[in-house]
Amino acid sequence: MIFSHTQISQYLRCPRSYRYRYLDGWQEKETRAAMAFGRCFEKALAAYFSGEDCSATLFKEWGAFRDVRFEYKKGESWDRLIHQGVHLFQRFAQDDRVRIRRPEQDLQVKMVRSLPDNNEFVAYIDAVGELDGTTCLIDWKTTTSRYSEEPAGLLSLDPQLICYSWISGIQDVALVIFVRKSVPEIQYLKATITDEQRREYGRIVEATVGQIQSGQFPSHSGIRFPQNGCVSCSHLGLCLDRPDLIAANLIRKPGANALDWLDELVD
Ligand code: SF4
Repeated sequence: MIFSHTQISQYLRCPRSYRYRYLDGWQEKETRAAMAFGRCFEKALAAYFSGEDCSATLFKEWGAFRDVRFEYKKGESWDRLIHQGVHLFQRFAQDDRVRIRRPEQDLQVKMVRSLPDNNEFVAYIDAVGELDGTTCLIDWKTTTSRYSEEPAGLLSLDPQLICYSWISGIQDVALVIFVRKSVPEIQYLKATITDEQRREYGRIVEATVGQIQSGQFPSHSGIRFPQNGCVSCSHLGLCLDRPDLIAANLIRKPGANALDWLDELVD
């Protein structure tokens, strides 16, 4: 089987949810505009580093979704997102802090690691490049709110970055966060992942894969702060046996298991 960070983190959040998604094929419907826009923005970033017109790419990619009936947050619209995206690119170019010297090789870098029992772990790293002259692996995010920067070193606890450091062996990691707000802002956050964190992530992966393969899928339910995972879980309708919620939030794709690593591309 092929595993990914998305799968491991979903199992750790709630094994029952993992079973619904990866064994039974219940996937969340793509209804949120922000997610689709984030993917378009990343394609435009690839165009930027390839010396192409990133705004034109963004218009083309996002234009494909112009008439899709997405859920937009309050105050958002198709037009507003595209304007925010263009402003963010202007800001990114002015900052000029990131270099990707070989964009055809160093963007969406596929990394594979063997696991016991003929299993594999696959990750797609957004970029391997330089931030302020330091070589690091880079993850892009688009969001409407700033990421916490305090206390110092917080980013080194990000499980996705620890995973990417584990699979690549690169210790320096960075998040470049495109904050979509009235005055666009880009956060450049850096961290260093230690050998011990990488070893620990490897142990977590092996233990989790072992539990999955032995068929353990107990529910980790929670509806009260801070463990209120069920409240935002797309599989809530299955746990409550509510056909209306299932129809509103989920689509069933049996047999999708072999392509689960593709989740990494939309993270
Ligand atoms: S609703 Fe709660 S218990 Fe059910 S799958 Fe989601 S997180 Fe797990």
